[in-house]
Amino acid sequence: MTPEDAVLSAADSVLADGDLTTDPDLIASYRADRSTGSVAGTPFAIAFPRTTEQVSHIVQSAYEHHVPVVPRGAGSGLSGGSNAIDGSLVLCVERMKSVLGVDVGNGYVETQPGIINQDLRDHVAGHGLWYAPDPASKDFCSIGGNVNTNAGGLCCVKYGVTRDAVLGLEVVLADGRITRIGRRTVKGVAGYDLTGLMVGSEGTLGVVTMARLRLRPLPPTPTTAVAVFDDISDAGRAVEAIMATSTPSLLELMDRTSLRAVEAWRPMGLATDAAALLIAQSDLPAGAGEQEADAILAQCERHGAREVYRSEDPEQAELLLGARRMTIPALEAMGDWLLDDISVPRRRLGDAVGAIERIAQARDVVIATFGHAGDGNLHPTIVVPRGDEAAAQRALAAFDDILQVALDVDGTVTGEHGVGLLKRAALARELDPVAIDLHGRIKAALDPRGILNPGKALPRW
Ligand SMILES: Cc1cc2nc3c(=O)[nH]c(=O)nc-3n(C[C@H](O)[C@H](O)[C@H](O)COP(=O)(O)OP(=O)(O)OC[C@H]3O[C@@H](n4cnc5c(N)ncnc54)[C@H](O)[C@@H]3O)c2cc1C
Repeated sequence: MTPEDAVLSAADSVLADGDLTTDPDLIASYRADRSTGSVAGTPFAIAFPRTTEQVSHIVQSAYEHHVPVVPRGAGSGLSGGSNAIDGSLVLCVERMKSVLGVDVGNGYVETQPGIINQDLRDHVAGHGLWYAPDPASKDFCSIGGNVNTNAGGLCCVKYGVTRDAVLGLEVVLADGRITRIGRRTVKGVAGYDLTGLMVGSEGTLGVVTMARLRLRPLPPTPTTAVAVFDDISDAGRAVEAIMATSTPSLLELMDRTSLRAVEAWRPMGLATDAAALLIAQSDLPAGAGEQEADAILAQCERHGAREVYRSEDPEQAELLLGARRMTIPALEAMGDWLLDDISVPRRRLGDAVGAIERIAQARDVVIATFGHAGDGNLHPTIVVPRGDEAAAQRALAAFDDILQVALDVDGTVTGEHGVGLLKRAALARELDPVAIDLHGRIKAALDPRGILNPGKALPRW
């Protein structure tokens, strides 16, 4: 029996009918995530476990037979993290989507990992509670994927990223053992922070089978503030000033190319002649929210905004946020795209956007820049004519130039999408040699046979 057959047989012995497939059509649709520019291999099968014990049994068999396992959530990743590798088993947790319990008094939910972020939000809203991390992909990404990429989102500028919401995890380790790490309490410092280590580990250290997530009371309806700029560097300076004086619950940026792409795709009257749009929200209670929004707009005017306005109309706010969330699909419609994800100190936002504009000219490519400006997290997205091979090569060069800009301004090569396959070389440039060594040692300690998502997330392995 081949190692693959042994793993198939182990999986088949615990999974329900239909939860294991070798069908080439299904394999084709589960072998890659949403990134472009990354390579996806061909797995020999896809398993859809429903319980922790099933995951444990399958991973244990893979460990025994040295078979690579690629954990997968909803496959919305943008770094190639859940791309299959040749000869691997894709372990897709999308059918593990039950909410296991909500503890209202202690403010947390326990859930299986496959649940879609928005479905979890809807569930806990039924208890009057709120799960804060809200990636723009919240309608189609899973909590397990969010935990493993340490996903950010629009509200993270005030409420923190996924890591700040994870209290504890259940994890199946590479050898199939199951461990529960973390805490239920508000405070707790017992032992190393293994939960923190797992968050953002991109499926390379374990398979998350349960997440215990911090909840908050539902916030009041936010007040929205919008500022239009003729110079994107002014918008960068306004962001710095806003963050020094207010606590917006959202602060997003769209540049001219992003505005034009969305307007062309779904016309909604966006200011396509502007250099940049800042969208901010305050979720302070009525009265205080308007005051904070006005203070934000005053900072924008002080830093050169040509037009500012505030809205309490939830429909108008949703339209604007919808425009921001639509940026990626709108750019996708324009041509072949390559999306970057750098994070820079807010003070250097202006320098970074200026450098990105120069890269667009030098490499003769279109770059749309948008993102979570309040966190200094930008998504410069390179768009080139579909199928133009020379332009695709220039796009790759521009992608790399942008990563260097991040490092040059004391930033990081990935703010929220993860290293995956796309940024391993860039990670090696960001980390010092001792940190690279530590990464290898941690991987070797937790996954000595290197079966979990090999070739991802680490500078070398
Ligand atoms: C239009 C669009 C907008 C986006 N906006 C944002 C945004 O605002 N913020 C943001 O952070 N991201 C954003 N993303 C990227 C993506 O949605 C996130 O990275 C998300 O967290 C991935 O979740 P997923 O369930 O799709 O994970 P996948 O893509 O399936 O996997 C992501 C990584 O997690 C690992 N993994 C998944 N589940 C498990 C598990 N249970 N155990 C162990 N490892 C696991 C995989 O191996 C892989 O390395 C966006 C993507 C798109 C397409």
